[in-house]
Amino acid sequence: MVIGVLALQGAFAEHVRVLARLGAAAREVRLPADLDGMDALIIPGGESTTIGKLLVLTELDNAIRARAATGMPIWGTCAGMILLGRNLGDSGSRVGEPQPLLGLMDLRVRRNAFGSQLDSFETTLKVPAVADRPVPAIFIRAPVIEETGPGVEVLARLPDGHPVAARQGRCLATAFHPELTDDLAFHRYFVEVVVAEAVADGRKGGWT
Ligand code: GLN
Repeated sequence: MVIGVLALQGAFAEHVRVLARLGAAAREVRLPADLDGMDALIIPGGESTTIGKLLVLTELDNAIRARAATGMPIWGTCAGMILLGRNLGDSGSRVGEPQPLLGLMDLRVRRNAFGSQLDSFETTLKVPAVADRPVPAIFIRAPVIEETGPGVEVLARLPDGHPVAARQGRCLATAFHPELTDDLAFHRYFVEVVVAEAVADGRKGGWT
């Protein structure tokens, strides 16, 4: 099993490091051909407008959509979650500055949802699907999910009720940065549950 990590901008090296700690093979993805042979993709945190524009420039946007359509699991953290969504809330993008999105999850996401005072903080979250203990979560100028479509399973919420982790089929989204903590729970969940299910289905002939 090989996990691709989108390496156009942002915190990709940290994901590669955590995957290595888990014993999972990881490769950096910068061009469409780099997706060949990947069993899954992680889209890291960073700056979603920059990553979105580079996705279009490299034509990775269509390549990723095509692989997603064949069932490749994708996990987006923070800016990666913004890119997985279908549309943005009010603070989405400035007029004249289009924000390319992959549109692979039925999420309405609001960027920079915590304002300038509280734009970065650390907390713990209850995520029963992922761990039977609270999971540490680092939010850095983080988005929140404002609305979810019917196929979306919310995995974690903030105390105010906003969803901050969600799964839809083989796509996983977290508003925070598990790769910046010592806690392997989310990477383990992605590799050992989401990706392992997809690989098992593929072996049974369900994944082209
Ligand atoms: N605020 C960033 C954005 O809107 C996301 C920040 C992050 O990925 N840590 O793209």
